[in-house]
Amino acid sequence: NSVWPMKVLILMSETGGGHRASANALTDAFKHLYKDNVSVSTVDLWVEIAGWPFSTYPWWYRLVAKYPVMWMVVYWYGKLPPTRWFQEQMWQVMVHDKLKAFLSETQPDVIVSVHPMVNRLTNNVLRRIRCIDLKPTPIFSTVVTDYGDAHPMWFNKDSEMTYIPSEPVRTLAIKFGMKNSKLKVYGLALRREFWDDKTDRFGKREKLGLSVSKPVILLMGGGDGMGNLELISEAVARHINKELGPNGAKLVIVCGNNRKLKTSLANHTWPVEVEVLGFTDNISEWMEASDLLVTKAGPGTVAEAFVKGLPMIIFAYLPGQEEGNMQFVVDNDLGIYSTDADVIGATASEWLGDPERLAEMRRRAKTFAMPSASIDIARDLGVVYGNTYSSLPSRVGLPSEMREEFYDA
Ligand code: UDP
Repeated sequence: NSVWPMKVLILMSETGGGHRASANALTDAFKHLYKDNVSVSTVDLWVEIAGWPFSTYPWWYRLVAKYPVMWMVVYWYGKLPPTRWFQEQMWQVMVHDKLKAFLSETQPDVIVSVHPMVNRLTNNVLRRIRCIDLKPTPIFSTVVTDYGDAHPMWFNKDSEMTYIPSEPVRTLAIKFGMKNSKLKVYGLALRREFWDDKTDRFGKREKLGLSVSKPVILLMGGGDGMGNLELISEAVARHINKELGPNGAKLVIVCGNNRKLKTSLANHTWPVEVEVLGFTDNISEWMEASDLLVTKAGPGTVAEAFVKGLPMIIFAYLPGQEEGNMQFVVDNDLGIYSTDADVIGATASEWLGDPERLAEMRRRAKTFAMPSASIDIARDLGVVYGNTYSSLPSRVGLPSEMREEFYDA
């Protein structure tokens, strides 16, 4: 078709690992489907376009995420209508022209937002651009990366399509005024390793050098190894040893980027077999090899656990943002929530001691898996693009300076 290649711009912000992860997953999906017929670039709106002081957002995020009270203040500042309005006005005044210049220069065909703080401003710019230099307007879409709850800034009525991960988020989106016809529940955009929901637990254990017959408990605290993983791991190990014996299970503790935690855990003497890992690239394999997951309620980890059929014990969540993920797991009987290390340890050993119940929970978790979300979103946007642009004159082989002319036509 003559309108290809399609030029995709993914707009994000490096505040939380999930947005970058979804951007990478979608890039892979676009390339997988359209090969040379697509070009994809990912841009951090605040760091790469808006500049200082907005470029400090990732630094602030990392600081605030460590302190729940500070986190709540920032979350509600962005959520309550008067403060949200004020913030969005500030962005409008200070960043609008920079974004407009960027879009006029790069002229994407499809813009995919994977961050709530991008939507309103970009749509405002597009509304102006529509009348001035870009014809036709780039297609704007939003891919929500929160699982059970979502910030109101995610939803903008001007989005051509909003892709959402779960039914609770659809209900919220409608509450915030979105039309149901502009919403698609495709799941969370997961990376390539999770596009296939087949699981071969024993095969993976062999591949990872684990004993095939020994149950595995995976413990994680998101990309940054957050939460009280140390105390929890100790309690789980103690309960397994007491109730199932020293060979009752192996614990695999993923510390992510938290080096301090990794060093501290590596120096422990454990009553059961324990493996301590730093940032791990093959989480999908470890999940596949495991029987249950003890984790913080990060949206990525929760959605990945569904694909690999893992029941969950959730020990922490970021207030506001991740509470809905925890609620989703609990409401659907896919796990429990507790902050008490002893309760977590006792529950883990109780579940492992009842294989039938565990198998039932694993089956249940799998029914919530949506492994093809990234591919479905990329395919859908390709169709929207094809339909929108196919009536236009050919662009194939147009040199870049003529591309501008084409837009001005
Ligand atoms: N993750 C990983 N390796 C690690 C730790 C985490 O690949 O060592 C991945 C994990 O599989 C998930 C993401 O990092 O995809 C964490 O995202 P989530 O939304 O769960 O939490 P966040 O870190 O954003 O708070």
